[in-house]
Amino acid sequence: MSNESLANLLKEERRFAPPADLAAAANVTAAAYTQASEDRLGFWAEQARRLSWAVEPTETLDWSNPPFAKWFADGKLNVAYNCVDRHVEAGNGDRVAIHFEGEPGDSRSITYAQLKDEVSQAANALLELGVAKGDRVAIYLPMIAEAVVAMLACARIGAAHSVVFGGFSADAVASRIQDADAKLVITADGGYRRGKPSALKPAIDEALAKCPQVEHVLVVRRTGQEISWTEGRDVWWHEITQRQSTEHTPEAHDAEQPLFILYTSGTTGKPKGILHTSGGYLTQASYTHHAVFDLKPETDVYWCTADIGWVTGHSYIVYGPLSNGATQVIYEGTPDTPHQGRFWEIIQKYGVTILYTAPTAIRTFMKWGDDIPAQFDLSSLRILGSVGEPINPEAWIWYREHIGAGKTPIVDTWWQTETGAMMISPLPGVTETKPGSAQRALPGISATVVDDEANEVPNGSGGYLVLTEPWPSMLRTIWGDDQRYIDTYWSRFQGRYFAGDGAKKDEDGDIWLLGRVDDVMLVSGHNISTTEVESALVGHPSVAESAVVGATDATTGQAIVAFVILRGTASDSDDLIAELRNHVGKTLGPIAKPKQIKVVSELPKTRSGKIMRRLLRDIAEGREVGDTTTLADSSVMNLIQSQLPTGSD
Ligand code: ATP
Ligand code: MG
Repeated sequence: MSNESLANLLKEERRFAPPADLAAAANVTAAAYTQASEDRLGFWAEQARRLSWAVEPTETLDWSNPPFAKWFADGKLNVAYNCVDRHVEAGNGDRVAIHFEGEPGDSRSITYAQLKDEVSQAANALLELGVAKGDRVAIYLPMIAEAVVAMLACARIGAAHSVVFGGFSADAVASRIQDADAKLVITADGGYRRGKPSALKPAIDEALAKCPQVEHVLVVRRTGQEISWTEGRDVWWHEITQRQSTEHTPEAHDAEQPLFILYTSGTTGKPKGILHTSGGYLTQASYTHHAVFDLKPETDVYWCTADIGWVTGHSYIVYGPLSNGATQVIYEGTPDTPHQGRFWEIIQKYGVTILYTAPTAIRTFMKWGDDIPAQFDLSSLRILGSVGEPINPEAWIWYREHIGAGKTPIVDTWWQTETGAMMISPLPGVTETKPGSAQRALPGISATVVDDEANEVPNGSGGYLVLTEPWPSMLRTIWGDDQRYIDTYWSRFQGRYFAGDGAKKDEDGDIWLLGRVDDVMLVSGHNISTTEVESALVGHPSVAESAVVGATDATTGQAIVAFVILRGTASDSDDLIAELRNHVGKTLGPIAKPKQIKVVSELPKTRSGKIMRRLLRDIAEGREVGDTTTLADSSVMNLIQSQLPTGSD
């Protein structure tokens, strides 16, 4: 990527220092960076000791067969014991682990002592159903407390879970069950979405026609809706768990025991089954949650709004927070049920102090209007987090002003399913934050930006984000496909992990994520990032959301095509389109002016809320639209096509 093309990401120059009181009491200070840079492995060995090991590891990293890493290989631990039992043994059994908030308004608070009983009973139930250490269990559940219990029960007995997002179709579920060769499926009759019960079990029934290896289906009763039942195969969760003992002795598993397989979001193509193991994964999930959210388990109330079906739900609802003894909120439903203030109402109700959500949600809240959060008491909040996509400065500032009362630090956390835990992020008590930048690799993590020839780029330039040293929670392979693991991540730049994301370093050396490498456009010989053009568009008062793609163009190589959703009051007109084009030209330079701007009412997003630009590229280039199985709402593509004049320009 050339320098001049990566012009300043908007003109937001404000910097935000950490609040003095937060900095003074922060879990992690600037000393961590120094310590980790002097002795990276010693630093991680120390973080591993935050956990409770049955056998303490003596070896930190075995990198003798790269890119296949082993961390803490001679140590043994039980991940579920670390997330549950040890807090009870430390005298914190009465602390609430989970405040569950159902969409219809039902709620339940579960203490660590109760969680220990429930996880033990579920572990005993899995054993009774013939699940053994080393087996795989597929989990297809709504956002209910049983999802957490099911994951921990698997971890406890050493079975790897493969959580499949509850909104996926039967085909998507079937292919994931087959790929992981799961022998048991845990599901529910349904869950509540948008004010009504939404069935889950029928998708499993349909999927299992193609998965003969599945012996049993455990069914949680959530909605009470009518379901079909296969005798001998299907078992009610409540029936089998309630008759189990609440005692289960956690076995110590090897640090490299597989903990879970999780398929990536599928934003760019066919999902990959990412394998994570136990000791290193838990070390980094736990440390980053402690460091980046400055979690004080006695006083904080933490809420991560992700679904358990995504890696964010794994690392920052289950393993990170629970290993740290956090009290957290889990919410089942959608943010606009029964009204658009539901999130803020939940924060007010539980006194949430730390909120972790995604840019797509933040932009939606902006679109709904400032007056909605203003009706609620959000004064308990002290740290706000963002994950999933680059957060544009406009949304960052809105988040801080309207949700964080203009004072809470924002941590923009870059990481992936593959990295298992956060990699690049500010530290709330240390970093002077810059809206739109994830800024700096966390202590113990080595990241940089390189050019096509693998040379590190100087400050002020852009290129490809790479990770230069192995890290504890790194993926161990792609399940069943070591070669694809090597090819996808370790072949582009010798000895370095290729993340697939474009990035630039600013004059201070801070990192700005620029979206996926596949999404970078080449216009008249200039590399232009979709993220920057999108940020410029959203910076205009009439634009609520935007997605930008490069379409093949006879004269310029690629031409910039932008899809925009307008804000409530704005209306589509030739004048507005011209104004938006000029606005981008003024902000980023004339080369970045979109050739076409198309006004639409929806954008195609994955189930985790990420924009699927490849589908828009299909439209922009007049092709048949590609694979849409990971799309949140498959009708969106038809809607968009119907909103565009045929042969439009
Ligand atoms: P697939 O790999 O199947 O196409 P995916 O990459 O969307 O799917 P995830 O692992 O869920 O699946 O997402 C990781 C990606 O999300 C990162 O590679 C990056 O593109 C984006 N991302 C996550 N957090 C941030 C962030 N804070 N800033 C910028 N981008 C982010
Ligand atoms: Mg990816």
